[in-house]
Amino acid sequence: MSIETFVYALIGWLVGVFINHAADVLPRRMGLGASPRCAFCDTPRSQLAWSTVIGYLTAHRACPECGAPLPLRSVIVELLMPAIFVGLLWRYGPSVHLGLLSLYSAILILVTVTDLEHHLIQHVIMAPAILLATAGAFFNHDLTWRRALLGGATGFVSLYAMFLFAQPMSALLGRLSGREISEVPFGFGDVTLGTFVGLITGLPGFFFALFITLLSAGLAALVYLFVRAVVQRRYSLFTPIPYGPFLVLGGFVMMVYGTEVLQWYIGRAI
Ligand SMILES: [Zn+2]
Repeated sequence: MSIETFVYALIGWLVGVFINHAADVLPRRMGLGASPRCAFCDTPRSQLAWSTVIGYLTAHRACPECGAPLPLRSVIVELLMPAIFVGLLWRYGPSVHLGLLSLYSAILILVTVTDLEHHLIQHVIMAPAILLATAGAFFNHDLTWRRALLGGATGFVSLYAMFLFAQPMSALLGRLSGREISEVPFGFGDVTLGTFVGLITGLPGFFFALFITLLSAGLAALVYLFVRAVVQRRYSLFTPIPYGPFLVLGGFVMMVYGTEVLQWYIGRAI
C-alpha cells in the first residue's frame, strides 16, 4: 500500500468518525460541537470511544453508566468510508475531482444513516450539500456545468412531482387499509436529496440514477413483503419504505460510473 493510499484511508476513517458524530447529534437537534454521548442514557462517552473502532479495540465498547454497546452502525461507517475513499483515490488520483466526490460520498452516507434511523433527511445537511454541489458543478471533470445544473433542476422537479403525488396516495392507502398512515413514504427531504443527486449526476445521468432508485426500492419492497408474509405470516401491503437510501444508491452509482453507464447505453442503442 502506498503512503498516499494510507493517508487517504486515514482521512476517510476520520470522515467516518465525523459522519457518525453528525448522525448522532443532528437528528437530536444538537450542534456539531456537542460531545459524543451514549444514545440511551446521555452519559458523555470516554474519549477513546469517540471512534467506535478504537472504542472496541481498547475495550471501551460499552457505556460506563448503562452498559449499552457502541452502535454497530458506527463501526460499519468507520470501515466503509476508508474503503470508499481509497476506491475513489485509485479511480481518480489526487485531484479536485477526487476531493469533490469524496465529500459527496460522505454526504450520501450521512443522509443514508439519518434516513434509516430516524426517517429524516435534514435541511441542516441538505442545504449546505446543495450549495456545495452547485459550486462543485463548475469543477466536475465528468460533467459540464450545464449538464450538472440541468440535472439539479430535473432532480428537484421530478422529486417534487413525486412528493406531491405521494400525499394523496398515502391518504388513499390509509383509507383502504382502514388506519391512519402518519408516515408519508416520500417527504420533502427526498426532494432536497433528489436535487443534490441531480447536481452530482447531471443530465442524462440523473434519469439512470432515478431508474436504479425505483428498481432497487421495488425489489427491496418485494423481498420485504415476501419475508414478512413467510416468516411472520403477516401481510401488510401498506408499509412505507424510506426512499432515501435507494436514491443514494442510484446517485452514487451514477456519480462514479455515469460515464461508463452512458457509453454502454449508447453502444446498445446503436
Ligand atoms: Zn449509557
